[in-house]
Amino acid sequence: MELKKEFLYEGKAKKIYRTSDPDQYLVEYKDDATAFDGLKKGTICRKGEINNTLSALLFKKLASEGIPTHFIKQISPREMLVKAVKIIPIEVIARNIVAGSLADRVGLPEGTKLKKTILEFCYKSDELHDPMINRYHIAALELATEEQLKKIEDYAWKINSILTDLFKQVNIALVDFKLEFGLHHGEVILADEISPDTCRFWDITSGEKLDKDRFRRDLGGVEDAYEEVLSRVQKILK
Ligand code: UDP
Repeated sequence: MELKKEFLYEGKAKKIYRTSDPDQYLVEYKDDATAFDGLKKGTICRKGEINNTLSALLFKKLASEGIPTHFIKQISPREMLVKAVKIIPIEVIARNIVAGSLADRVGLPEGTKLKKTILEFCYKSDELHDPMINRYHIAALELATEEQLKKIEDYAWKINSILTDLFKQVNIALVDFKLEFGLHHGEVILADEISPDTCRFWDITSGEKLDKDRFRRDLGGVEDAYEEVLSRVQKILK
């Protein structure tokens, strides 16, 4: 069955297609990698397959724990069928350990364990370079209603706790990660992806980075790190 009906949108890491069912989209994960607001471009071999397969496993796990997600099923190594959503233009970032932009913003060294998890919001806008915003901006710009924001926050805390526990079981620290939510028939559901592109993963024993920072910072071993995360998760999730 040919599912791809009509090309809808191409992002930095994925292409979205309409299908014969208006309620379902097809997501194709690409090997393309970008960093620093698109200034650095490259390819990470097999990234599309790895991120698709890992996201599918994590979405299934989250759904089993009561988090509504856009995931329907994985239909090929690099394609998944998802519920059609309108993305809420807010990037939700959860941080357990200081890394990346937070280190610069608060002057704490990378690796500092936070006493409490921090939740941040960024306005999803390429032209504005995704600026950080707070709940007042969200209300004033009508990016989400109060009720929707409450759901988003509630889901984000639960997801952090589920994923932190899950990755700990495979000796990986979930340092920080970014989530996106969408509206499907008016309901807030988790969308986008959960992968080494959107999370920071550190090996608990060695501290080795197993995520996109290897690409951002030219550390080498990028493909191996992505493979490693997937193969560890596959040991505990099917
Ligand atoms: N992140 C993302 N997309 C973005 C910005 C951040 O997936 O557009 C993820 C990033 O991979 C990390 C977390 O969100 O896991 C926090 O990123 P940070 O704000 O530190 O920005 P960065 O250092 O990546 O520029």
